[in-house]
Amino acid sequence: MKTVLITGANSGIGKALTIKYALEGYRVILACRNLPTANKTIEEIRKNQPAAHLACVDVDLGSFASVSRCVATLNKKHIRIDGLLLNAGIHIPYKNILTQDHCELQYQTNFLSGLLLTLLILTSESGRSLTQLVYTGSNAHKIGTLPFPSLFGFWYLYAVSKLDGTAAFFLLQKLVPTLDILIISPGGVQSNIHRYKLPILKVISKFIGKKTTAQATADYFYKIYNSKSRNEKYWYLGKSARPHTLCLDKEYQIGVWNRALAVFAPYLPSNNFLPLQQIRNFVGNFCAISYKTSFPRSPSDICNIVIKARSLGHKVHVVGKTHSYNDVFFCNQHIISLDNFKKLSLDPIRQRLNCGAGVTINEIAAYLDKKGFTLPFAGSFGGQTMVGAFSTSTHGFSKHGGVLGELVYQVTIVDGLGNIKIITDERELSAFRCSLGALGIIIEFELEVHKKDLAQYHVRSLDKKQLYTSINKLVATHDHIRFAINPFNKESVMVMTIDHFLAKKHSIAKVTMSQFFYLSDRTFHSLVLAFFRQLVQFRVVKKIIQIGLYFGSIEYSFPVFFSSNLFLKNGVVTRHVLLSQLLHESYNDPNCFNMSLAIAPEDWSRFDHHFNRLLSQFNSLGQVNYSSRFLGKSEKVLLATNFQKDVLVIDIQVSKKKSASLEFLKQLEKVATKDFKARIHWGKVFFAEYEAIKNLWPQKNFILFQRIKKKYDPYEIFSNPYSKRVLNI
Ligand SMILES: Cc1cc2nc3c(=O)[nH]c(=O)nc-3n(C[C@H](O)[C@H](O)[C@H](O)COP(=O)(O)OP(=O)(O)OC[C@H]3O[C@@H](n4cnc5c(N)ncnc54)[C@H](O)[C@@H]3O)c2cc1C
Repeated sequence: MKTVLITGANSGIGKALTIKYALEGYRVILACRNLPTANKTIEEIRKNQPAAHLACVDVDLGSFASVSRCVATLNKKHIRIDGLLLNAGIHIPYKNILTQDHCELQYQTNFLSGLLLTLLILTSESGRSLTQLVYTGSNAHKIGTLPFPSLFGFWYLYAVSKLDGTAAFFLLQKLVPTLDILIISPGGVQSNIHRYKLPILKVISKFIGKKTTAQATADYFYKIYNSKSRNEKYWYLGKSARPHTLCLDKEYQIGVWNRALAVFAPYLPSNNFLPLQQIRNFVGNFCAISYKTSFPRSPSDICNIVIKARSLGHKVHVVGKTHSYNDVFFCNQHIISLDNFKKLSLDPIRQRLNCGAGVTINEIAAYLDKKGFTLPFAGSFGGQTMVGAFSTSTHGFSKHGGVLGELVYQVTIVDGLGNIKIITDERELSAFRCSLGALGIIIEFELEVHKKDLAQYHVRSLDKKQLYTSINKLVATHDHIRFAINPFNKESVMVMTIDHFLAKKHSIAKVTMSQFFYLSDRTFHSLVLAFFRQLVQFRVVKKIIQIGLYFGSIEYSFPVFFSSNLFLKNGVVTRHVLLSQLLHESYNDPNCFNMSLAIAPEDWSRFDHHFNRLLSQFNSLGQVNYSSRFLGKSEKVLLATNFQKDVLVIDIQVSKKKSASLEFLKQLEKVATKDFKARIHWGKVFFAEYEAIKNLWPQKNFILFQRIKKKYDPYEIFSNPYSKRVLNI
């Protein structure tokens, strides 16, 4: 039998709800300030329903200590609550009464104590099965947002209590998604809420607005709650409605929440609900609420966080630099950042680099560059952590693999039991190379590095049709390939190749631009770039470039040291004006959704036709371009996009401002994963769920991944909604 606890249950809507829930077969706990009246109510209900399961518990919502005692009683009596109906409310116009907790009485009764009661139940034995919550709101909350509050003196304090209550329960819904929260504003009801009004106001409210009976209100509360097709959270007069926008504003919600919790913090068992933060990713297409990120300083700090989380049944997730385009780094309980883990130490003889988890690719590249070493694979953006890149098995392009995670030889982790473990076993490493933060917390790792050598960078424009036929040859003959559809002319493609110079014995045939240009002063270069950007705004300039790129077979090559540093922060790519426009800048554009799909190189022409056909159905999107990089197979990474096969990773950028963008990406992904067996990129936008994803990777890889997960994280502390959705763990 399910149990519901109803506050304010001995009169008005609360009493009607008690009758309704008892009739529907629930056990009802009447949480009331006045126990004799509550007992009378029970007797009265039993006259009609002798078998009703009813009990009462003492609570005065004007006192935090009383709320705390109430929950202690529930726990002592081992009462488990399945549903909580926060119905109690008071309205005392023209009076500003302070409680013993020094809070305004309406604010405490209508909001603060309800929230405290919920949090205390949620964090104790009694709340283990709590899945339903109804907060009785009021559409009068909108008055609380109006200027000149004194004009509305008689409504204002009540309105603010309901405004903040609505905002806080909307936020609670995000923090505890397993709890189904409804906020119902009943409108005018014949209830006891009017009992403290002046006689004249009682008369006025009697004649203003239609009044429903309490029983009819309770019936529709019950109906709304149990309707199967209901998604909406806010209801007014029996219909789904919109609360004032302030209740949905994240900053406002966090402010209300943190202030409320600061007031009743001494009554909370731990400070798990405080303070909160808004967390968003780098490009700003994901934004949510979580507890404040913590910054542990040592491995033992991390172990303690994990052990504590385990004891509370909470989740922990590591966030890198939030460069992922989705919620892969998010968890609404404990988010930790390893920014303090900045170790970098090179063993030049073994060609191994030891790194802390907080180190970014840029930092690694700069460190290696100084020491005459480099990463063997090219990356193109260095702002993220190395762990983030290999945890999402992303980044890099090379014929010899390419995913940066392949360079990792050893990881040190904190596992789900809070123990530190060093992993060198190749099969286990292959899973950690795509941990998505779901297998364990990587605190340190060892990377393979190479000595710096000369490389030849080559840029040319090719007719698309030429590339259709020559793509396999290009892939076979170059170390690194990247290309982008010419944004000025959809029929031509800009192709960049990089070859390790000494290894390949290439001749420097066409050095048409001096090395100086590429390695010149950054400030000067930024100016050129800014100027170029302005210039291409003009249609005439655009046309000239278009003609130039189409008819002229633009081709230049230049030798530089192959260095990941050159490639990234001070990189050739950023220094090359045109290429940076085509290949690099779009990744940084916070106005773009980024999606990557990995397909077989020989499928590229078919993909290109499909892409253009689909795009023509989305007229409002205008021109959308994509760029591609070639990745050799990387069998060392269990869930790499290029496991067992060479792939082209197609990076598509679509404007966030256009409303059809997501639908376009959705449809593109659907066909690509079906017809091209395209694999998705974990760090970017995608829509597929576990069942669809499972078909794209070998089944045995998934099984191995799950097995290793069980070994290192038996209590699923590192799982979050993301890993559930994409890996079913
Ligand atoms: C501007 C931009 C450019 C990009 N360019 C490319 C590109 O050229 N090629 C490419 O392939 N990808 C690219 N990406 C995608 C990006 O490389 C990945 O999303 C990468 O994972 C982000 O790393 P991060 O440090 O920001 O990690 P986050 O996004 O913060 O986290 C990523 C994942 O790593 C996990 N994680 C982080 N640290 C740890 C740890 N210590 N232990 C366990 N798990 C951990 C997190 O829990 C999360 O699951 C780009 C993204 C952006 C925004």
